[in-house]
Amino acid sequence: MIAIVKESATPEQLSHFITWIEGRGYKTNVSQGDNETIVGIIGDTTRIDPFLLESMDIIERVQRVSEPFKKANRKFHPEDTVIDCGHGVLIGGGHFQVMAGPCSVEGKNLIQIAREVKKSGATMLRGGAYKPRTSPYSFQGMGERGLDILLEASAELDMPVVTEVMDPRDVQLFVDKKIDVMQIGARNAQNFSLLKEVGKTDIPVLLKRGIAGTVDELLMAAEYIMSEGNEKVILCERGIRSFETRTRNTFDVNAIPVLHNLSHLPVVGDPSHATGYTRYVRPAAYAATAAGADGLEIEVHNKPSEAWSDGAQALTPEMFADAMKRIALIRSAISADLDDQPAPEPGSMDAAPLAAERGVDA
Ligand code: PEP
Ligand code: MN
Repeated sequence: MIAIVKESATPEQLSHFITWIEGRGYKTNVSQGDNETIVGIIGDTTRIDPFLLESMDIIERVQRVSEPFKKANRKFHPEDTVIDCGHGVLIGGGHFQVMAGPCSVEGKNLIQIAREVKKSGATMLRGGAYKPRTSPYSFQGMGERGLDILLEASAELDMPVVTEVMDPRDVQLFVDKKIDVMQIGARNAQNFSLLKEVGKTDIPVLLKRGIAGTVDELLMAAEYIMSEGNEKVILCERGIRSFETRTRNTFDVNAIPVLHNLSHLPVVGDPSHATGYTRYVRPAAYAATAAGADGLEIEVHNKPSEAWSDGAQALTPEMFADAMKRIALIRSAISADLDDQPAPEPGSMDAAPLAAERGVDA
């Protein structure tokens, strides 16, 4: 349930109202927007009489929120949430960031890849030190040493790092090492003990959609983190399993505007895991950008054929550089002011197809 507070309400009246609600055993979530203040009421609100609240001087109106996700719900927080990822990098509410780097931290090449992606405009560095692999015999990641390598690159390049935490027992290590953003991978999207553990920290979380997770399940996973106190959650669409076998996953581009509609949290697209093949990563990245994503997570490797994981979907630094320029153009196109823009003439949208964007020369 949400209570929209009248503009005339004083801070004292608002805090009195909150104390009154909390005294009845509910949790509250206050969103102070530019135009209105909303008090979200969390708990079994069937016991609250909305007419009683509406009869109070400071309450404009009351609305029931039927969705099970509350803190992640846009009704609780109408304005986009902007998250500070460290090193002055903000995401959400118009701030767009590209997280790039190899699937796994492998050693010395990390800094080389990091320098290249930064030069091309990436603003965050990704790389897995703890890897969720389908086979226990595959490379499992460098572990703590991998985190240190990431942090060295982060310090040199003044870039925040995003890296996956797989085990609730490792969360404290990520906190102690001051990892900028913790990633929860698709396979752990419903590992509720892990979600609760990262929820107890103050570190932003990049939360991936489960392999067969619905949009609502993703939002409920976000709710798990937020309900523990950590409201810095970035949602990530990374493709879902479908009947299609030509790609590793099926990129649900629809989920990007759907998530924006349902939630105030930033939404990132991951075209690498969504497609699984280098040749399709760029077109999918453009689609996610055009669909309004607040950022992208893209795997880049200096020698994809020698990568220790996910080489088949890695962009080379050159491909990434090219993609970044087009991503920037798409960002300006979707936010362009249309007042002076004429309707397109027939034929004016014709352009020679770029082989790379059709996946034929990758
Ligand atoms: C990754 O980012 O390398 C990864 C394992 O992603 P996902 O959890 O989406 O498969
Ligand atoms: Mn990967």
